[in-house]
Amino acid sequence: MQVVLLEAEREVDHSPRAATTHPSTLEMLAGLGLLEEFQSVGLVARHFQFWDGASRALVAEFDHEVLRDETPYPYVVQTEQHKLCEIGLRRLAAMPDVEVRLGTPVTGLTQDEKGVRLAASGEHSFDYVVACDGGRSTVRKCLDIEFEGYTWPERFLVLTTLFDFAQALGCCPRSYISDPEEWTNLFKVMGDDLKGRWRAVFPARENETDEEAFSEAALERRMRKVCDAHPKELVVHRNIYRVHQRVARTFRAGRVFLAGDAAHVNNPVGGLGLNCGIHDAVDLAETLRLVASGEAGEELLDRYERRRRPLNIEYVQQQTVANKKRLEERDPRVRRANFDELRRAAEDPRLHKQFLMRTSLIESARKAARIA
Ligand SMILES: Cc1cc2nc3c(=O)[nH]c(=O)nc-3n(C[C@H](O)[C@H](O)[C@H](O)COP(=O)(O)OP(=O)(O)OC[C@H]3O[C@@H](n4cnc5c(N)ncnc54)[C@H](O)[C@@H]3O)c2cc1C
Repeated sequence: MQVVLLEAEREVDHSPRAATTHPSTLEMLAGLGLLEEFQSVGLVARHFQFWDGASRALVAEFDHEVLRDETPYPYVVQTEQHKLCEIGLRRLAAMPDVEVRLGTPVTGLTQDEKGVRLAASGEHSFDYVVACDGGRSTVRKCLDIEFEGYTWPERFLVLTTLFDFAQALGCCPRSYISDPEEWTNLFKVMGDDLKGRWRAVFPARENETDEEAFSEAALERRMRKVCDAHPKELVVHRNIYRVHQRVARTFRAGRVFLAGDAAHVNNPVGGLGLNCGIHDAVDLAETLRLVASGEAGEELLDRYERRRRPLNIEYVQQQTVANKKRLEERDPRVRRANFDELRRAAEDPRLHKQFLMRTSLIESARKAARIA
C-alpha cells in the first residue's frame, strides 16, 4: 500500500500527555519492532498503588507480574507520547512506500464509491482515509459524525516536578491518591535527559482560571498537600486542559475511518486513551491490508467498527469514569467500600489477576480478536 501521512503541525508536540503504555500495547509495539527503542527511553513500572490522601495511607498495591503467563510484558512502560511519535516518524521516513507531509492541514473532504478527495494544500485522492486528527477532528466534522458524550466541568492540571515522590512518600512510579477534597495522580517519566521527573495531575476547581491554577500560591498549596517537603522551585512545567468522555456515533463513513482521539476521548485516569488509539490503528491497518491485498472482501471493513467501538465503551469509557469517581468520592461509606474492594482485589490472587487483565487491556484485545 502507498501511504501518505498529512500532519497539520511542523513538529511533534512535546507537552505532557500520555505516558503509560500497557502490556497489550507493548505486545503491539513489539510486533512492529518498536518496543526496544521505546522502552530504552522510558521506565518499566511493574507495580501501581492506590493511596488514601486523607490519611496518607497505602490502600492497595497491584503487581503486573501476576500476568506473567498471559503476556511477555508483565509491566507497563512509562515513556512520554512525543517519544513514541518521534520513533514512529523515524520508522516511516525509512519506508519507501510512505510519504510524510508535515505542516499540511486537511481542510475538507469529499468521497464517492471510487475514492476520497482531501483538501490539504491542494487536492489529493486516496482509496481510503484514516482520520487520526485528534479530538477536534476536522474529518469527523466534515462527515458530520456526532461525537456523543459529555465534557467534565472541571479541567485537569498537570504539574511536572524534579522532586522525587518515591523517596519522599515511599510510593511507586504510578500512584493514584484518592481524596474527597482534591485527588492526585502521581507518575514518573524519564524526561528527554533521562534523569527522571514526576507528573502530578490534579482536578482544577470548576471556575479556576489558568492564572489562578498556575499561581505560585496554588502550586505550593497543591504540592504541599501531597508532600509537605515539596519545594515549589522544583516545578518545571504547568499544563491545564479540558477533559471529555465522548465516542463518535460511527467509526466508518464509506471509505473514511476514524481512529484514536478522533473516534473517542476519555479522562486520563488509568492511562487508556492513547493505548486504545494504538489498538485501533493496529486493527485497522491489518483490516485494510487484508482488503487491499484481495485476501478479504470489502465487507471486512465493517469489522473495524464492530470491534473497536463497543470495546472502547466497555473498557475505556466505563473504566475511566469509574477510576475518576473512585478518586473523587466524597461519601465516607462509599469511600470505605471502594477501598475494601481494592484491598480484596489486591489480596486475592484470582481477583488480583482479573483486575489487571482488565486494566492492562489484555482482556479487551482478546475480546476484539474474537469479534469476526
Ligand atoms: C494530559 C494528558 C494525559 C494523558 N495521559 C494518557 C495516558 O497516560 N495514557 C494514555 O493512553 N492516554 C493518555 N492521554 C490521552 C492521549 O494523549 C491521547 O489519547 C492521544 O494523544 C491521542 O492520539 P491521537 O494521535 O489520536 O490524537 P492527537 O495526539 O491529538 O494527534 C492528532 C494529530 O492530528 C493533527 N491534526 C489535527 N487536525 C489536523 C488536520 N486538520 N489535518 C492534519 N493534521 C491534523 C494534530 O496536529 C496532531 O498531530 C492523555 C491526554 C492528556 C491531554
